[in-house]
Amino acid sequence: MVQKTATTKRQIAQSKPLLVGMVLIVLCIGVGAGAGVYVANYLFAQAPEPIPPSVSVPRRLSKAPVVSEPDAVIPPIVDGMVPEIQRLETKQPVAFLTIDDGGVRQPDFPQYLRQNNLKATLFLANAFIEKDPKYFRAFVRDGHVIENHTLGHDLAMSTKPIAYQQQQICGMSDQLVEYYGRRPALFRAPGGRYTDITRRAAQQCNMRAIVGWKATIDYGVMRYQEGTMLKPGDIVLLHFRDGFKTDIDVYIKETSRAGLRTELLEDWL
Ligand SMILES: [Zn+2]
Repeated sequence: MVQKTATTKRQIAQSKPLLVGMVLIVLCIGVGAGAGVYVANYLFAQAPEPIPPSVSVPRRLSKAPVVSEPDAVIPPIVDGMVPEIQRLETKQPVAFLTIDDGGVRQPDFPQYLRQNNLKATLFLANAFIEKDPKYFRAFVRDGHVIENHTLGHDLAMSTKPIAYQQQQICGMSDQLVEYYGRRPALFRAPGGRYTDITRRAAQQCNMRAIVGWKATIDYGVMRYQEGTMLKPGDIVLLHFRDGFKTDIDVYIKETSRAGLRTELLEDWL
Protein backbone atom coordinates (compact mmCIF):
# COMPACT_ATOMS: atom_id res chain seq x y z
CA MET A 1 0.00 0.00 0.00
CA VAL A 2 2.77 2.37 1.04
CA GLN A 3 4.72 1.33 -1.96
CA LYS A 4 1.74 2.01 -4.20
CA THR A 5 1.26 5.52 -2.74
CA ALA A 6 4.91 6.31 -3.28
CA THR A 7 4.64 5.19 -6.86
CA THR A 8 1.59 7.38 -7.42
CA LYS A 9 3.37 10.39 -5.88
CA ARG A 10 6.34 9.77 -8.14
CA GLN A 11 4.05 9.57 -11.13
CA ILE A 12 2.46 12.87 -10.20
CA ALA A 13 5.85 14.43 -9.65
CA GLN A 14 7.01 13.19 -13.02
CA SER A 15 3.93 14.48 -14.82
CA LYS A 16 4.09 17.93 -13.15
CA PRO A 17 6.23 19.58 -15.84
CA LEU A 18 3.88 18.13 -18.46
CA LEU A 19 0.82 19.58 -16.66
CA VAL A 20 2.46 22.97 -16.29
CA GLY A 21 3.38 22.90 -19.96
CA MET A 22 -0.20 22.13 -21.00
CA VAL A 23 -1.59 24.89 -18.78
CA LEU A 24 0.87 27.34 -20.33
CA ILE A 25 -0.12 26.33 -23.86
CA VAL A 26 -3.84 26.72 -23.07
CA LEU A 27 -3.11 30.14 -21.52
CA CYS A 28 -1.14 31.23 -24.59
CA ILE A 29 -3.94 30.15 -26.94
CA GLY A 30 -6.49 31.99 -24.80
CA VAL A 31 -4.47 35.20 -24.70
CA GLY A 32 -3.68 34.93 -28.42
CA ALA A 33 -7.34 34.47 -29.39
CA GLY A 34 -8.37 37.32 -27.09
CA ALA A 35 -5.84 39.61 -28.71
CA GLY A 36 -7.03 38.48 -32.16
CA VAL A 37 -10.64 39.29 -31.35
CA TYR A 38 -9.57 42.66 -29.96
CA VAL A 39 -7.59 43.52 -33.10
CA ALA A 40 -10.43 42.31 -35.37
CA ASN A 41 -12.94 44.40 -33.40
CA TYR A 42 -10.66 47.40 -33.70
CA LEU A 43 -10.14 46.94 -37.44
CA PHE A 44 -13.83 46.39 -38.24
CA ALA A 45 -14.86 49.29 -36.05
CA GLN A 46 -12.49 51.46 -38.14
CA ALA A 47 -13.76 50.09 -41.51
CA PRO A 48 -15.84 52.62 -43.44
CA GLU A 49 -19.50 51.92 -44.16
CA PRO A 50 -19.89 50.12 -47.52
CA ILE A 51 -21.26 52.40 -50.23
CA PRO A 52 -24.64 51.10 -51.45
CA PRO A 53 -24.74 50.34 -55.21
CA SER A 54 -26.58 52.91 -57.32
CA VAL A 55 -28.84 50.30 -58.95
CA SER A 56 -31.22 48.50 -56.61
CA VAL A 57 -30.22 45.01 -57.77
CA PRO A 58 -28.48 42.74 -55.25
CA ARG A 59 -24.75 42.30 -55.93
CA ARG A 60 -25.01 38.52 -55.87
CA LEU A 61 -28.16 37.29 -57.49
CA SER A 62 -28.39 33.96 -55.70
CA LYS A 63 -27.47 32.72 -52.26
CA ALA A 64 -26.84 29.12 -53.31
CA PRO A 65 -23.47 27.71 -52.26
CA VAL A 66 -20.73 28.17 -54.83
CA VAL A 67 -17.90 25.70 -55.24
CA SER A 68 -15.61 28.19 -56.97
CA GLU A 69 -14.54 31.54 -55.69
CA PRO A 70 -16.07 33.76 -58.40
CA ASP A 71 -13.38 35.98 -59.88
CA ALA A 72 -15.13 37.43 -62.93
CA VAL A 73 -16.69 40.87 -63.17
CA ILE A 74 -19.38 42.15 -65.52
CA PRO A 75 -18.19 45.08 -67.61
CA PRO A 76 -19.79 48.32 -66.41
CA ILE A 77 -22.79 50.13 -67.85
CA VAL A 78 -21.37 52.75 -70.25
CA ASP A 79 -23.38 55.66 -71.73
CA GLY A 80 -26.58 54.18 -70.33
CA MET A 81 -26.03 50.87 -72.16
CA VAL A 82 -25.71 47.46 -70.52
CA PRO A 83 -22.78 45.27 -71.61
CA GLU A 84 -23.13 41.97 -73.43
CA ILE A 85 -21.44 38.87 -72.03
CA GLN A 86 -20.86 35.56 -73.81
CA ARG A 87 -18.20 34.26 -71.46
CA LEU A 88 -17.09 35.22 -67.96
CA GLU A 89 -13.39 35.96 -67.84
CA THR A 90 -12.08 33.33 -65.47
CA LYS A 91 -9.41 30.66 -65.37
CA GLN A 92 -11.54 28.50 -63.12
CA PRO A 93 -12.95 25.36 -64.76
CA VAL A 94 -16.60 26.39 -64.95
CA ALA A 95 -19.30 26.60 -67.62
CA PHE A 96 -22.73 28.20 -67.43
CA LEU A 97 -25.87 26.52 -68.71
CA THR A 98 -28.71 28.67 -70.06
CA ILE A 99 -32.01 27.32 -71.38
CA ASP A 100 -34.36 29.48 -73.42
CA ASP A 101 -37.97 30.22 -74.36
CA GLY A 102 -40.10 27.61 -72.52
CA GLY A 103 -41.89 26.37 -75.63
CA VAL A 104 -41.89 22.66 -74.76
CA ARG A 105 -42.76 21.75 -71.17
CA GLN A 106 -42.51 18.06 -70.35
CA PRO A 107 -43.12 16.89 -66.78
CA ASP A 108 -39.76 15.12 -66.45
CA PHE A 109 -37.50 18.00 -67.55
CA PRO A 110 -36.95 19.34 -64.00
CA GLN A 111 -36.16 15.85 -62.78
CA TYR A 112 -33.64 15.32 -65.57
CA LEU A 113 -31.71 18.43 -64.54
CA ARG A 114 -31.93 17.40 -60.88
CA GLN A 115 -30.63 13.88 -61.44
CA ASN A 116 -27.71 15.29 -63.45
CA ASN A 117 -27.01 17.83 -60.73
CA LEU A 118 -27.26 20.80 -63.09
CA LYS A 119 -28.37 24.32 -62.25
CA ALA A 120 -29.35 26.58 -65.12
CA THR A 121 -30.38 30.12 -65.93
CA LEU A 122 -33.70 30.08 -67.79
CA PHE A 123 -34.42 32.91 -70.22
CA LEU A 124 -38.17 32.65 -70.63
CA ALA A 125 -40.56 34.66 -72.78
CA ASN A 126 -44.14 35.25 -71.69
CA ALA A 127 -45.39 34.25 -75.14
CA PHE A 128 -44.29 30.68 -74.34
CA ILE A 129 -45.00 30.38 -70.64
CA GLU A 130 -48.22 32.37 -70.14
CA LYS A 131 -50.35 29.28 -70.74
CA ASP A 132 -48.63 27.41 -67.91
CA PRO A 133 -46.45 29.62 -65.70
CA LYS A 134 -46.94 27.08 -62.86
CA TYR A 135 -44.80 24.56 -64.72
CA PHE A 136 -41.66 26.59 -64.03
CA ARG A 137 -42.22 26.80 -60.27
CA ALA A 138 -40.61 23.35 -59.98
CA PHE A 139 -37.47 24.80 -61.60
CA VAL A 140 -37.45 27.73 -59.18
CA ARG A 141 -37.82 25.31 -56.25
CA ASP A 142 -34.84 23.31 -57.54
CA GLY A 143 -32.63 26.42 -57.55
CA HIS A 144 -32.69 27.38 -61.22
CA VAL A 145 -33.09 31.10 -61.88
CA ILE A 146 -35.56 32.63 -64.32
CA GLU A 147 -34.41 35.68 -66.27
CA ASN A 148 -35.85 38.03 -68.88
CA HIS A 149 -36.39 37.02 -72.54
CA THR A 150 -39.16 39.60 -73.27
CA LEU A 151 -42.93 39.37 -73.32
CA GLY A 152 -43.57 38.51 -76.94
CA HIS A 153 -40.31 36.97 -78.23
CA ASP A 154 -40.49 39.32 -81.21
CA LEU A 155 -37.48 38.43 -83.38
CA ALA A 156 -37.64 41.90 -85.00
CA MET A 157 -37.72 43.72 -81.66
CA SER A 158 -34.25 45.25 -82.09
CA THR A 159 -35.39 47.15 -85.22
CA LYS A 160 -38.26 48.86 -83.37
CA PRO A 161 -38.41 52.08 -81.28
CA ILE A 162 -37.00 52.16 -77.78
CA ALA A 163 -40.41 52.59 -76.16
CA TYR A 164 -41.52 49.27 -77.65
CA GLN A 165 -38.34 47.51 -76.56
CA GLN A 166 -38.72 48.89 -73.05
CA GLN A 167 -42.30 47.70 -72.89
CA GLN A 168 -41.14 44.22 -73.95
CA ILE A 169 -38.34 44.06 -71.39
CA CYS A 170 -39.78 45.96 -68.39
CA GLY A 171 -43.15 44.28 -68.98
CA MET A 172 -41.54 40.84 -68.73
CA SER A 173 -39.74 41.77 -65.53
CA ASP A 174 -43.08 42.78 -63.97
CA GLN A 175 -44.64 39.58 -65.25
CA LEU A 176 -41.89 37.42 -63.70
CA VAL A 177 -42.31 39.17 -60.36
CA GLU A 178 -46.01 38.35 -60.54
CA TYR A 179 -45.40 34.69 -61.45
CA TYR A 180 -42.38 33.80 -59.32
CA GLY A 181 -41.76 36.68 -56.91
CA ARG A 182 -38.29 37.58 -58.19
CA ARG A 183 -37.30 40.52 -60.39
CA PRO A 184 -34.88 39.37 -63.10
CA ALA A 185 -31.52 41.08 -63.53
CA LEU A 186 -30.23 39.51 -66.73
CA PHE A 187 -31.61 39.81 -70.24
CA ARG A 188 -31.35 37.83 -73.45
CA ALA A 189 -32.74 39.35 -76.63
CA PRO A 190 -35.04 37.22 -78.81
CA GLY A 191 -32.86 35.44 -81.36
CA GLY A 192 -29.87 37.12 -79.70
CA ARG A 193 -30.51 40.19 -81.87
CA TYR A 194 -29.88 43.53 -80.25
CA THR A 195 -28.62 47.04 -80.99
CA ASP A 196 -27.40 49.91 -78.82
CA ILE A 197 -31.06 50.91 -78.47
CA THR A 198 -31.79 47.48 -76.99
CA ARG A 199 -28.86 47.90 -74.61
CA ARG A 200 -30.34 51.26 -73.51
CA ALA A 201 -33.82 49.84 -73.11
CA ALA A 202 -32.37 46.98 -71.03
CA GLN A 203 -30.54 49.44 -68.80
CA GLN A 204 -33.71 51.47 -68.29
CA CYS A 205 -35.43 48.26 -67.19
CA ASN A 206 -32.64 47.73 -64.61
CA MET A 207 -31.04 44.80 -66.38
CA ARG A 208 -27.34 44.35 -65.57
CA ALA A 209 -26.25 42.68 -68.80
CA ILE A 210 -27.37 41.15 -72.06
CA VAL A 211 -26.37 37.50 -71.93
CA GLY A 212 -25.17 35.91 -75.15
CA TRP A 213 -23.45 32.54 -75.60
CA LYS A 214 -20.30 30.86 -76.88
CA ALA A 215 -21.91 27.61 -77.97
CA THR A 216 -25.36 26.21 -78.72
CA ILE A 217 -26.77 22.70 -78.64
CA ASP A 218 -29.71 22.00 -80.96
CA TYR A 219 -31.18 18.56 -81.48
CA GLY A 220 -28.03 16.90 -80.18
CA VAL A 221 -25.60 19.01 -82.23
CA MET A 222 -23.08 21.24 -80.48
CA ARG A 223 -22.03 24.38 -82.38
CA TYR A 224 -19.11 26.46 -81.18
CA GLN A 225 -18.70 30.12 -82.04
CA GLU A 226 -14.95 29.60 -81.89
CA GLY A 227 -12.80 26.48 -81.73
CA THR A 228 -14.04 22.96 -81.09
CA MET A 229 -14.12 22.85 -77.32
CA LEU A 230 -15.60 24.77 -74.40
CA LYS A 231 -13.34 27.15 -72.51
CA PRO A 232 -13.52 28.24 -68.84
CA GLY A 233 -16.35 30.69 -68.29
CA ASP A 234 -18.27 29.85 -71.47
CA ILE A 235 -22.02 30.37 -71.55
CA VAL A 236 -23.92 27.61 -73.38
CA LEU A 237 -27.41 27.93 -74.89
CA LEU A 238 -30.06 25.21 -75.09
CA HIS A 239 -33.82 25.40 -75.61
CA PHE A 240 -36.81 23.78 -73.97
CA ARG A 241 -37.82 21.64 -76.93
CA ASP A 242 -38.30 18.04 -78.00
CA GLY A 243 -34.91 16.43 -77.68
CA PHE A 244 -34.16 18.46 -74.55
CA LYS A 245 -32.71 15.45 -72.75
CA THR A 246 -30.46 14.58 -75.69
CA ASP A 247 -29.21 18.17 -75.68
CA ILE A 248 -28.51 17.93 -71.94
CA ASP A 249 -26.58 14.68 -72.54
CA VAL A 250 -24.45 16.46 -75.15
CA TYR A 251 -23.91 19.34 -72.74
CA ILE A 252 -22.69 16.95 -70.03
CA LYS A 253 -20.40 15.15 -72.49
CA GLU A 254 -18.88 18.40 -73.81
CA THR A 255 -18.38 20.03 -70.40
CA SER A 256 -16.69 16.91 -69.03
CA ARG A 257 -14.50 16.63 -72.16
CA ALA A 258 -13.35 20.19 -71.46
CA GLY A 259 -12.93 19.46 -67.73
CA LEU A 260 -15.52 22.07 -66.72
CA ARG A 261 -18.16 21.92 -64.00
CA THR A 262 -21.45 23.75 -64.26
CA GLU A 263 -22.16 26.66 -61.99
CA LEU A 264 -24.99 29.14 -61.87
CA LEU A 265 -24.41 32.44 -63.64
CA GLU A 266 -26.26 34.29 -60.86
CA ASP A 267 -23.79 32.93 -58.27
CA TRP A 268 -20.99 34.58 -60.18
CA LEU A 269 -22.50 38.02 -60.73
ZN1 LIG B 1 -35.61 32.71 -77.65
